[in-house]
Amino acid sequence: MIVLKAKNIGFCFGVKRAINMVLKEAGDSRQKVYTMGPIIHNPQMVNILKEKGITPVDDVLGINDGVVVFRTHGIKKDEEESIKRKGLRSIDTTCPFVKRVRKHALYLKNNGYKVVIIGDKNHPEVKSVLSYLDNDGIVLQEPLAIEAKKIGVVSQTTLDKGTFVNIVRELARNAHELRIFNTICESTEVRQKEAVDLAGKVDMMLVVGGKNSANTSKLCKVVQTVQPRVYQIETADEINPEWFRGLQNVGITAGASTPDLIIDSVERRVKNF
Ligand code: SF4
Repeated sequence: MIVLKAKNIGFCFGVKRAINMVLKEAGDSRQKVYTMGPIIHNPQMVNILKEKGITPVDDVLGINDGVVVFRTHGIKKDEEESIKRKGLRSIDTTCPFVKRVRKHALYLKNNGYKVVIIGDKNHPEVKSVLSYLDNDGIVLQEPLAIEAKKIGVVSQTTLDKGTFVNIVRELARNAHELRIFNTICESTEVRQKEAVDLAGKVDMMLVVGGKNSANTSKLCKVVQTVQPRVYQIETADEINPEWFRGLQNVGITAGASTPDLIIDSVERRVKNF
């Protein structure tokens, strides 16, 4: 069986940067290191970091010393304020592309636009951006008409282009003025495009990444448009040999927060069939 692996695979720029920053801090610092929520959406990597003393927490209520890390997807405005109020030292690993979403959203709000964030209202990145707008914004995951004269649009960085275009098209029906910032990050776009190309050449796709990872789920969604045989797995242990019966070739891609060691172990396992 031939195994084809996507070229753009494993940690993206933002995840690499965040992991390097937090590991450096844990190595240099004599203080405990806490991350506000999981630093990235990959449970296996978060466990590796825990073994190095880097602990995810939901809030800073019980923390009186140590270093608090703002995670890759960004934290909420009130969380940042409470960290400052407590006088805790912090490092900010928020991906610059996520900060770009926040910057454009604030610009739109300050210029009188009704801000629409296209994305998942339960995702930490969207919650973070909305909080810096003082919750004065609308989150859309599906096309919906909005009654506002001036509408300003940003998107979650890991959104797929198709969803973005469909929702913008619907907004354009009613708006007198529509200002759009396409804030889907380039790494997401490249990875999704490559995954679709690869999926068209193989009998089955494996998408490796955290079940809680938005960009991994989106990869599955776009791959399904050309290849219905797709399995999302977190580790090689989830692979079922039955999936491969009678297949000639298999493609592997992975989310932006999937460590190379997991991708390599998946590839090794598949090559053994
Ligand atoms: S997927 Fe894009 S926005 Fe998200 S962390 Fe990676 S580089 Fe940053």
